[in-house]
Amino acid sequence: MTHPRILVLGTGGTIAGAGAHATGAAYRPGGLGLEVLIAHLDALGLAAELVPEDIARIGSQDIGWAEWQVLHAACTRALADPAITGVIITHGTDTAEETGFLLDLTLPTTKPIVLVGAMRPADAVGADGMRNFVNAVKVVGDPAAAGRGVMLVMGDAVLAARDARKAATAQIDAFRSFPRGPLARVTPSSLDWFGPPHRAGEAARYAFPAELPRVGILTAGAGMDEKPVAALLGIGCVGLVLAGMGQGNAPARVIKTLARAAANGVPVVRSTRVDEGLVDRNVEVDDDGLGLVAARALGPAKARVLLMVLIANGVTDAAAVQAAFDG
Ligand code: GLU
Repeated sequence: MTHPRILVLGTGGTIAGAGAHATGAAYRPGGLGLEVLIAHLDALGLAAELVPEDIARIGSQDIGWAEWQVLHAACTRALADPAITGVIITHGTDTAEETGFLLDLTLPTTKPIVLVGAMRPADAVGADGMRNFVNAVKVVGDPAAAGRGVMLVMGDAVLAARDARKAATAQIDAFRSFPRGPLARVTPSSLDWFGPPHRAGEAARYAFPAELPRVGILTAGAGMDEKPVAALLGIGCVGLVLAGMGQGNAPARVIKTLARAAANGVPVVRSTRVDEGLVDRNVEVDDDGLGLVAARALGPAKARVLLMVLIANGVTDAAAVQAAFDG
């Protein structure tokens, strides 16, 4: 059997980070090029051919439109290249959920595309990056990996990009999956899928945007007033995401101002500042009457990504936006 040929796109993050000291806390994410990682992997004798392409060497807090365009184009080329089995993207963990979800929304599911990161720098004692990367190679090389959308491999788990979120700042198993649990457990020597591919043969759900519209996130706080809504609209936001309390709540005057924005054609999605849980329609807020959208399972960061993609694709009507969030 020939080995899988895997395109490896490097963007930086802790997996490519190094510190001054193996037991110290301080380090710089993204300092190491892919060649360092690949050299270490070569020594492991993996049954895979890795094709490295450095995209960036940055912490993922700085990842944005420029890198997303390059990543999308590179993934599109890899999907069209019969010699490539799939793609691994090394990425900082801070925004892995945003990059992963954006690509998930805008690429077909025909080949596995996997984001991988690390919580500990490459030269720290107990570093997790190499294990996560070897796990990612195992996933991409598996014939059952296609048809599941973009995935994230961290902490011996395979998560769907739509469900994944960073839920801890420092521990190794920092990612959680909601509302679905992990798609698989993976180790360097085993891979157990918990179900068949659920998106086999799916085309890209949305066209990759020609540019990203400005969508703001407003975090609700007790005692706040409505002025931040006006401020966000004032800087040109064409969509708003509320990181609300509980089931996407906010003080009445804030909800009223958001409803006025919705009536003026600015789609408004109610998400939650709570770490996990659904935001459903018409629970405490009259979404039907106010023209608002409930984010359902998507937290504020991913709700913003979806709303940006929708607006860029001309989807701004509240019912159509709601259907996309329900999906
Ligand atoms: N903030 C950096 C980043 O997201 C480091 C965090 C990490 O990769 O775990 O790239």
